[in-house]
Amino acid sequence: MSNYFSLQPMGWETEEIEQFHSYFYRFALLHATTMIPMAKHLAEWWQRNNEVPVELNDVFLYKANRQPLCGYGEAVANYVRVVSAATHQPDLYRTTLLPLRDAADAVAHGVLKRGRAWCPACMYWSDRRGEPHYDRLLWAIAPMERCPIHQVALEHACCHCGHHQLAYHPRAGMARCAKCSESLVQQPETWTRAPHPCFAEDNCRALVQNIADGSLSSTVPRAFSIFCDELRALANPLVAYVKNTRPEFASRTWREGQRPTLSTMLKRCHVAGVRLPDVLADPRGAAKAAGQLLIDHQALPSSPKPRRSPEMLKQVRLRLIEAISEYPQRPLVAFTEFARALGVSKGFLSYREPILCKIYKQEYKAQVRQANKQHKRQAKAELTEGRAFLRYLAGEFRSQDELVDHLHSNFEIKKRVARLLINEVLKTHARIKNLSEMTMLSKSQRCMLKRGRAAGYL
Ligand SMILES: [Zn+2]
Ligand SMILES: [Zn+2]
Repeated sequence: MSNYFSLQPMGWETEEIEQFHSYFYRFALLHATTMIPMAKHLAEWWQRNNEVPVELNDVFLYKANRQPLCGYGEAVANYVRVVSAATHQPDLYRTTLLPLRDAADAVAHGVLKRGRAWCPACMYWSDRRGEPHYDRLLWAIAPMERCPIHQVALEHACCHCGHHQLAYHPRAGMARCAKCSESLVQQPETWTRAPHPCFAEDNCRALVQNIADGSLSSTVPRAFSIFCDELRALANPLVAYVKNTRPEFASRTWREGQRPTLSTMLKRCHVAGVRLPDVLADPRGAAKAAGQLLIDHQALPSSPKPRRSPEMLKQVRLRLIEAISEYPQRPLVAFTEFARALGVSKGFLSYREPILCKIYKQEYKAQVRQANKQHKRQAKAELTEGRAFLRYLAGEFRSQDELVDHLHSNFEIKKRVARLLINEVLKTHARIKNLSEMTMLSKSQRCMLKRGRAAGYL
C-alpha cells in the first residue's frame, strides 16, 4: 500500500502523451515538494516494502547528459517501476520509450534531445485555456524538430534570457524559465512556421501513438535483425537482377547482444517504406511488406514485341483505303488473308484502323453474299437448262446425294443449298408433268406448260 496521491499522465492514449519526466515533475509538485526529495522519499518507501532494492539515482533528474527521463535506459525503468507501484498505475511505461528496450542499442545515444523541447503553440493555447502545460513524449525524441499538430518549430530556449532549458524550474511550473523565472509563453508572431515534416516524423509519431495506446508494450527480441535478414533474403535476387550480378546471400546484421540505434532503425524503416512499430511487433511481416514494395517499385522490362514503325502504319492505312476504293472492280480477299499479306495480325489491324477495317469487313461480306447468289443461280441453271435434273431422273446419277455432290463440287454451293435447290426443281417438275398429262388446259396453264418445257423442267 502507498499513501501517495494518484495522478494521471496527460494526453493519455494519444500521440500527445506526456513524457515521464514531465509527469514526475507534476507528481512531485502534487506532493508539495520537488523532484529530488520526491525520489528520495519513494526510494525509502520502496525499501520498506520490497526485499529487492531499487536504485533511484537522482542524478538523472538534473544531470545525466541533461536528457529527459523518458528514454529506455535502466534509470527510466527503475523510476517507472517505483512510481507505477506508488500510484497504482501499471501502464506508466507508456510515457517513455521503454517498449524499445529489447530492440534498441543499450547505450541509447542520440535517442533523446539534450534538454527540453516544446511547441510554443501548444504552450500558448494551454496558457490561454488556463490548463497546465506539460511536455510531450514526442517532443523529446531527437529527430522531432516541429510540432506536427501546429506545424511550428519546437523551442529550446527562454525568449527573455536565451537560456537553453536543460531542466525545469524547481517550483514555478514547466511554463517558466529555469534561470530567469520569466514565462516561456510566446505570442504567435514569434513562432517559427515549419510546414514540412521533418525526417522520420511519421515513424516517430506512429511509435509514440502505439506506445501511448498500449499496442506496442514490448518488442520481438532481436526484431530489427530478423527484419533486416528477412528483407535481404527477399531483396537480394532483385538487387542482383538490377545490377546484373549473381545474388549474394551473405548478410551482416547485429551480432547477439548488439542492437541498432533508434536513428539507424528510423533510417532503415524510411528506406524500406515500412512503419517502425510494425517492424518491432512483427519483423517478418514487415519484411514481407517491404519486399513487396521493392518488387512493385521495380519497372518491368520492356515488352519484346516488335514495335511497328510509323511508315508501316502509313502503309497499312494506304493499302486498306486502296482495297476499299477498288471494290467491286477488284474483288476483296478475306480479312485474315489481307492482314497476313501485310505482315500484321488481324487484331493489330482492327486496333489501329477500326473504321477502315469495319468498312472492309462489311464490303467483303457483301461480296461473299453476292458470290453465293451467283453460284446458286449457276447451280440451278445446271439442273434445268443443263439437264442435270433430267439426267438424274434418267438414272445417270445413282442417287440424289451424288447429284448434290456434283453441284457442290462444281458450283461452290453448300450441300444443304444444293438439296433445297433439287427439292424445289423436283416440285416444279411434278407440277409441269401434271399439266402435260391433263387434257383440258386453260390459257394460263398452257402458257405455264410452255414456259416449263422451255426452262428444261420436262
Ligand atoms: Zn503544438
Ligand atoms: Zn529565461
